[in-house]
Amino acid sequence: MPTPGKILCVGRNYREHAKELGNEVPTTPVIFLKPPSSVIASGEAIALPAGIGRIDYEGEIGLVIGQRLTKASPAACAAAVRGVVAVNDVSARDLQKSDPQWWRAKGYDTFCPIGDERQGTPDLAALEVITRVNGEERQRGRSAEMIFPIAEVISFISQAVTLEPGDLVITGTPAGVGPLAPGDVVEVEIPGWSRVRNPVVAAG
Ligand code: ZN
Repeated sequence: MPTPGKILCVGRNYREHAKELGNEVPTTPVIFLKPPSSVIASGEAIALPAGIGRIDYEGEIGLVIGQRLTKASPAACAAAVRGVVAVNDVSARDLQKSDPQWWRAKGYDTFCPIGDERQGTPDLAALEVITRVNGEERQRGRSAEMIFPIAEVISFISQAVTLEPGDLVITGTPAGVGPLAPGDVVEVEIPGWSRVRNPVVAAG
């Protein structure tokens, strides 16, 4: 897909994942941005910078927006979804804890692998995400388990930030995150919709 104009992300949207990182279950959506410069396609390498500690995969369901949304209702947001992509929200976990903002922890170059978009109208309550590292399943989550359902998240974002066609909303990662190392191959799949598979290398 073309690089999104902006990428909005939800943190801590699955109870078991909030717990595994020692975080409270949020009462309002935790939203952050990833820069479009972090996007890579399936097959391109995730480059791990040296000296910044642990860097994790996070398999996530991504929704591509098809219509402009400003202060939109959840129903209008659901109707404005154009397609689905598999996304890996690569995260520098130690920096995420030590930096007051997540621009760097979530924003390094190559930290946003995105699979090919399949256009269509998904049942937003029936999507699934699976993450595999070197062929071994590490994460499996369903959108029905999310603390904040997808349409509500998009509506919440649109109260503050107008979403444009081609923008991407990624909806949080289920439990099972873990570190990446050079030589790994990491794959995120949204069954029936999209897949993104990337080798991992040390940044030059
Ligand atoms: Zn994430």
